Amino acid sequence: MPPELTAVLALCRNLPSPPGIALRIIELAQDPETDITTAADVIAIDMALSARMLRIANSPLYASRRRIENLGQALTMLGLNATISLALGFTVTQNLSAPGQDQDVRARAWRRSILSALAASLLGQARGLRKAEELMLAGLLQDIGVLVLAQSEPERYLPLLRQAGDNDQLLALEREQLDCTHAEVGAWMAEQWDLPRYLVEAIAHSEAPATPEDTFQACVALSGAVADIWLSADADAAREHALQRVHETLNLDSAQFDQVLARIGEALPEISALFETTLISPSRVQQLIDHAQELATLRNLREMQDAALARQRADEFEARANRLAEQAHRDALTGVLNRRQLEAVLEQEFLRATRHGWPLSVAFIDLDDFKKINDAHGHLLGDQVLRAFAGKLQEHLRNSDTVARFGGEEFIALLPNTTEPVALEVVRRVLASIVNTPMAEVDSGPLFVTFSAGVATQGGYERFADVQDLLKAADDVLYRSKNLGRNRVIARSPSTAPA
Ligand code: GH3
Ligand code: MG
Ligand code: MG
Repeated sequence: MPPELTAVLALCRNLPSPPGIALRIIELAQDPETDITTAADVIAIDMALSARMLRIANSPLYASRRRIENLGQALTMLGLNATISLALGFTVTQNLSAPGQDQDVRARAWRRSILSALAASLLGQARGLRKAEELMLAGLLQDIGVLVLAQSEPERYLPLLRQAGDNDQLLALEREQLDCTHAEVGAWMAEQWDLPRYLVEAIAHSEAPATPEDTFQACVALSGAVADIWLSADADAAREHALQRVHETLNLDSAQFDQVLARIGEALPEISALFETTLISPSRVQQLIDHAQELATLRNLREMQDAALARQRADEFEARANRLAEQAHRDALTGVLNRRQLEAVLEQEFLRATRHGWPLSVAFIDLDDFKKINDAHGHLLGDQVLRAFAGKLQEHLRNSDTVARFGGEEFIALLPNTTEPVALEVVRRVLASIVNTPMAEVDSGPLFVTFSAGVATQGGYERFADVQDLLKAADDVLYRSKNLGRNRVIARSPSTAPA
């Protein structure tokens, strides 16, 4: 603070000064031997102060606790530190809101102080600080410099107050014209009044260029910006501004911040009444609470929409990934499993069959004289036949069976837990059905196909060393069935050879 200003303030005779009761409470605050009984004795002298202490103990700030009936209970419930802090708040500020010719600006500063008191306390609570009352007092007094300057230097200072649109502008004007900020003046005043050190420091660090040194001071420094949400003409912009700072400094998110705002709104009528000022009209309070709730609702809605959108995107992404994986597993022409995937499935089924001693049958299926179809009707019709055939094959088998295209016009049917005679019977039934099912329409009419198949079974009368051996066995049998004249299904086991 510039020495001239210090001198002016020191000599100023109409500086706000704490009433007698406040001086007694300041003494209590400075005395390490103070106990709650002594504090109660001092407070009990002042009926108005006693009533306020009782009321605040029953206010929404302590709403969760039981109903407090008398001053003793109130102070016991609050504890010594809280009692002294609150009593200091009530008494030190008693003369600050006195009416005068500069009523409008001082009333506004006072409103800001009370809002700041609540904001500091509730921000601290949101950050888990256990000093609600000390924070409230520091918040209440952080702008005491404004009131001090308005009273001691009205000609110089009141025009600045009227000119400044917001706190940042006020600070800029103060620096420019007074070469100090109201925070410095406030801290100086607090020191003159012999207020506890933490208060002097919190006030001193409440405004730029000073920066808070700990979370307590940060809550105090941010409380003004939060208060401005209620005082600013543009509440939304003020909220955004405050939220940004609160987020940066205290790491509270938007939802936590809204909770703080809602709690300020809740406690405000009670606190205003306690400080006996017509702080803000009840309708304005309700309007602000409604507004905060509306904002919270909107944000919740948006978050829900965002979440729904994110879920939808994830679902789509997953479905797409599944489709791609599925595609990677499937044969592009026929849609049945491709050879690579067949090998994977076959490997798995072979292991399971071996482990459990289940039979695993494999049918190697090859369309008969397929080349002739291509030659007679073209490859496109050949493709159509392959598609139709694969579809029919799958249709005729169980879901637990696997159909795969081995390549060209060759297919594999995998029949887990199926003995060789059963597999033989199943594939023969498929053949019987297929030969009567038209696979395409050509000029001469419906086109039918036949196939030859060889069945081999793991765990039947023989055990194969691996998948390749099993497949080779089935292929050998297929070759035999071709040699036997096609359009037939035979098995490896001599006992199941066609009758
Ligand atoms: P066989 O009864 O001895 O099995 O005679 P086949 O004509 O069916 O057997 P071959 O191996 O001689 O001919 C198979 C034909 O299948 C030859 C090939 O052009 C045809 N082919 C293989 N893949 C496809 C395909 O994806 N689309 C079409 N349209 N034809 C295919
Ligand atoms: Mg072939
Ligand atoms: Mg063939």
